[in-house]
Amino acid sequence: MKKVSRRGFVERLGLGLGASLLVPAFEAYAAKKAPLYAGKKLRVALCGLGRYANLVREGLAASQYCQLAGIVTGTPAKAAQWRSAYGIPEKNVYSYQNFDTILANKSIDVVYITLPNALHKAFTLRAAKAGKHVIVEKPMALTEQDCQQMIAACQRAGVQLAVGYRLHYEPNHLELKRLGQEKVFGPVRLIEASLGYRLADISPEDWHLKKALAGGGPLMNLGVYCVQSSRYVLGEEPVAVSAQFGPVTLPDLFKEVEESITWQLYFPSGALCTSTATATCNIDRFFASADNGFFELSPGLSYGPFKGRSSQGAFNFPVINQQAAQVDGIAPFLLDNKPLPAHISGEEGRKDLRVLDGIYQAARSGEKITLR
Ligand code: NAD
Repeated sequence: MKKVSRRGFVERLGLGLGASLLVPAFEAYAAKKAPLYAGKKLRVALCGLGRYANLVREGLAASQYCQLAGIVTGTPAKAAQWRSAYGIPEKNVYSYQNFDTILANKSIDVVYITLPNALHKAFTLRAAKAGKHVIVEKPMALTEQDCQQMIAACQRAGVQLAVGYRLHYEPNHLELKRLGQEKVFGPVRLIEASLGYRLADISPEDWHLKKALAGGGPLMNLGVYCVQSSRYVLGEEPVAVSAQFGPVTLPDLFKEVEESITWQLYFPSGALCTSTATATCNIDRFFASADNGFFELSPGLSYGPFKGRSSQGAFNFPVINQQAAQVDGIAPFLLDNKPLPAHISGEEGRKDLRVLDGIYQAARSGEKITLR
């Protein structure tokens, strides 16, 4: 597969080589601006056509290596609307019932699952059995054990499994990762990473509030970004966790899942990460304190636009379409039949669920938990 040279893309962006982080996914996204790729595109079927599916659809439209080729939906009206709006042939439209017949469809390469969290596992298993690669939204599943079963099923079926971690392809986050892992300001000792939205206007029937469908509250939907950022900035896996549930200020909504949760992750180097995921208030920030300086993003973990600063001054990379960068970061591996890098594969999702399982266990027990 032909790719744009690193120097070429930098020149088109008008950036000096030294001024950029030059990350492959960003390269792929930037290259999109000049339509240089004319090879076979990755043909994606979106499964579950809700709010986030619409952002992924826009990302696919802006991507270089992918195209929206099919849909899986339980709502016939949506099927008709998407078919006519995005030119999807009838043979590439599936319901949740007949989804397994996608096995025979040679014009779909990958199923991208944007269903409620609890359905990620079942649809990953079905897609894998049908011989399709899978991209599954975060959180990958409800438990680490579910993730292990999903990884095993994809391995057995000979298909690849990626998790929809859009921030892994986002230039400000790649800068955080570089500053932390390369110890640019010395070893990082403390991270504060929190994400929250005041959720007062949500319907009490929304699946995010139902334990059986969401698996939990803000920890599952937002906290996963805090856990992720601490892990990829430190380049380490936490060994212990303590956690506390926060107060319930919206009792009509938060009957089944937590409204907020605060936790502390302890890393082998001695670094500590403290985080809150909450539906009580708005917060969106990442801060790392190292021996010789600090670095932060605020806004930091949402959709952005992100604003970065370190003890050496501001850093702000271009605002990108995060979904386009993500699918273009994944697609070249699937098109070339090469293994996905571990940090964007199902294994990464499993590592996060290991930590999320531990956070819930610690909050419920009130004990500091050692992570296996
Ligand atoms: P949503 O409610 O807007 O969409 C869910 C879709 O699933 C709807 O089309 C709904 O009809 C369908 N569905 C099928 N079975 C259902 C059932 N039993 N109950 C409820 N809906 C059912 O949700 P969303 O915000 O699009 O989230 C979908 C997934 O995407 C979640 O896993 C979420 O965590 C993830 N997400 C990721 C990001 C990100 O930035 N990566 C952002 C938002 C959501």
